[in-house]
Amino acid sequence: MPKQKIAASSVKESAATKKVEKKSAKAVGRLLGLKDYVGNDFLSWDLAMTKAWELARIFGFSPLRTPIIEDFSLYKKSTRKNSEKEFYFVDFERGEKAVLRPELTQGMIRSYLENKMEELPQPIRLFSVGPVFRQEKMASGRYRESNQFDLEIIGEKKPMAEAVLINSAYRFFKELQINVQVQINSLGDMETRKEYNNKLASFYKERGRRSKLCNHCKKNLLKSPLSLLDCREDSCVKIREGAPQIADYLSAASREHFGKVLEYLDELNIPYNFNSYLVRGLSYYNDTVFEFWPVADDGVANGKLALAGGGRCDSLVESLGGKSTHCVGLAIGLERAMMKLKEKNSFAVYPDEEELIYVAQIGEQAKTKALLLFEDLRSSGFNVRQSFSVDSLRSQIEEAGRLKAKITLVLGKKEVMDETILMRDMESGVQEIVAQKKIKEKLNKKIIRKVGVIYG
Ligand code: AMP
Repeated sequence: MPKQKIAASSVKESAATKKVEKKSAKAVGRLLGLKDYVGNDFLSWDLAMTKAWELARIFGFSPLRTPIIEDFSLYKKSTRKNSEKEFYFVDFERGEKAVLRPELTQGMIRSYLENKMEELPQPIRLFSVGPVFRQEKMASGRYRESNQFDLEIIGEKKPMAEAVLINSAYRFFKELQINVQVQINSLGDMETRKEYNNKLASFYKERGRRSKLCNHCKKNLLKSPLSLLDCREDSCVKIREGAPQIADYLSAASREHFGKVLEYLDELNIPYNFNSYLVRGLSYYNDTVFEFWPVADDGVANGKLALAGGGRCDSLVESLGGKSTHCVGLAIGLERAMMKLKEKNSFAVYPDEEELIYVAQIGEQAKTKALLLFEDLRSSGFNVRQSFSVDSLRSQIEEAGRLKAKITLVLGKKEVMDETILMRDMESGVQEIVAQKKIKEKLNKKIIRKVGVIYG
């Protein structure tokens, strides 16, 4: 019977709906080691990103964007032999062994070569910002997708290249009010590295030492004794205290080069620590290597979560098919910078969120002047508003009130003649006359600028 039929099918339907409801209740989570940038996270990250762009341009680096997927052979020579498991391999159409890039440097050098930048006047300064992927063990401040800000100076042999890079990164942290100390070392030229590696291997192989090493270092002892110096395990830190020092093996040229880099840092007033255990993981470094470590309130620099790292890699361009070319590179970890910014409650401030200044005018003559003043303030980064089409001062003040302006600047005939401005604090109603040429200085004191960088 039709009635029964209907009833039967509605029972079926509600069972199906229940099934669907059950399915949709099971939410899909984020993959391990990845991060969402929600609310203030995004604003801190954006602040770091904006500062990076600003400084890169000011220091004369040209922007470069390279693909996130690259041919694996790009990394083969510069990667520690046992670190292949850190890569994310991608099933790419051409059937080549492709990976998600674990850092930006190699892609930037590939692009330098592929776009024939070798033929341009050297040095070439490049910067790139973007995500990198490493299959890391889970730990705080260690993500599988993170963002790097990478600066490269290609074709510059002189120690000034290191000074420029370190200075750029130092200004980045300083202007974001993140306290850092540069850890710096010289690995010497490739010959020195080889000789020193052998010396280290003999040191670590001596009876009583090898057995006390952590498992990771035991494995690395033959492949890269140098990397053992960088181990942060307590037992390995203790053993390395008696290890031979690379400084004793540097050639005269390397010694002079390194001395000059340190001299520049002294002149630039950049705090650094000569750290003979700093070797950095990758095999492509020679001579100068450095890292930026955060400095805690007690003044102690902590290397567990370095904020940036880099060094000279004079063999890299050639190893990727170019001619022998000097190169210095540096990468800042934006998530690590972001963590520091969040600790300090520093976020990107968009122009609309800054305290507002309203520019009011009375009379034709003042209108033109007010227009110029408005433009000057706007281009200096102040958050300004106006209603130049309105003549009545009262209406303009009301509009300023509606907009919740902190300050209203009034220009009338008298102010134009005297080259002054009437400055009214909208909350207290207090007014004062300020010389036009002093107005920005005055506003900078009155207006709370939440952080040093304004996005816009
Ligand atoms: P590296 O060249 O490996 O020293 O990386 C450069 C910078 O990127 C480091 O100093 C860190 O600030 C940052 N970094 C490296 N690995 C990670 C990671 N897994 N998660 C977040 N930041 C990272």
